[in-house]
Amino acid sequence: MSRVAIVTGGTRGIGEAISLALKDMGYTVAANYAGNEEKAKAFSDATGIASFKWDVGDHQACLDGCAAVTEALGPVDIVVNNAGITRDGVLAKMSFDDWNEVMRINLGGCFNMAKATFGGMRERGWGRIVNIGSINGQAGQYGQVNYAAAKSGIHGFTKALAQEGAKVGVTVNAIAPGYIDTDMVAAVPAPVLEKIVAKIPVGRLGQASEIARGVAFFCSEEGGFVTGSTLSINGGQHMY
Ligand code: NDP
Repeated sequence: MSRVAIVTGGTRGIGEAISLALKDMGYTVAANYAGNEEKAKAFSDATGIASFKWDVGDHQACLDGCAAVTEALGPVDIVVNNAGITRDGVLAKMSFDDWNEVMRINLGGCFNMAKATFGGMRERGWGRIVNIGSINGQAGQYGQVNYAAAKSGIHGFTKALAQEGAKVGVTVNAIAPGYIDTDMVAAVPAPVLEKIVAKIPVGRLGQASEIARGVAFFCSEEGGFVTGSTLSINGGQHMY
C-alpha cells in the first residue's frame, strides 16, 4: 500500500508544488488548506489530490483533520509542515495579536501536526516530518520579529524532535527557503522586492518546485540517514 502524506497549506504556492512532487513519488497525498475554497477545489480537480480544510493553529482541528485523513486514505506516514502566514510590521507597530497569530499558525502548527501523527509513525517504525522554515528565521529580517521568531523556532523544534525520532525510524528535517515566487512574496512591495532580488547571488527568485525537490529527498525511502538537518535553498543568499 502506498504511503500517505499530509502537506499543510498544500493547495497553493510552495505547498502545491510539494503535494505534486510527493504524488509523483507514488505517495498518496492529502493537501490541507485554511479557507481558500476556490483554489483548493481547482487544485483537487486538476490533480486528483484530495484536499482537507482545517486550521493548523488549532490543536483539536489538527487531531480531527489527521483522523479524517487516516479514515479516508490510511495511516499518515509523512507530514510536511508548510502552512504559514506573515503579519509584518516593525515592533512599534506590531500588535500582540499579530505576534500571537504568527506563532500560533507557523510554529504552533508544527507542534499540533506532530502531536497528531508522530505516535503512529513511531508505532509503525517509519515516518518523515519536514518543516518549512525560512531564511528569515536563520538571519532575521527587519519588520518580522514574529515571523523570524516562529521560523527560528521551527529550526529548533526540528532538531529536538529529530532526536526523539532517530531510534524509531522517524526522520525530522527542515528546509529554509530563500525568496520564492509565490503569493506571499507577491505581497512584498515592488521596490522592496527589487532590493531583495539584487541581494540574491543567482539573480532571481526561486521557484516553488525547487523547494519541493528538497522536500521530496527528505521524504524518500533513501533519506533515512538524514535527520535533524536544515537544507537552505536560497540562491546563495546566505551561506548557511
Ligand atoms: P502562500 O501564502 O502562497 O500559501 C500559504 C498556504 O498556507 C496556503 O495554502 C494557505 O491556505 C495555507 N495556510 C495559511 N494559514 C493556514 C492555516 N492556519 N491552516 C492551514 N493552512 C494555512 O505561502 P508560500 O507558498 O509562499 O509559503 C509556504 C511556506 O513557505 C510558508 O510556511 C512560508 O512561511 C514559507 N516560506 C515562503 C517563502 C517565500 O518566499 N514564498 C520564503 C521562506 C519560507 P489557503 O490557500 O486556504 O489560504
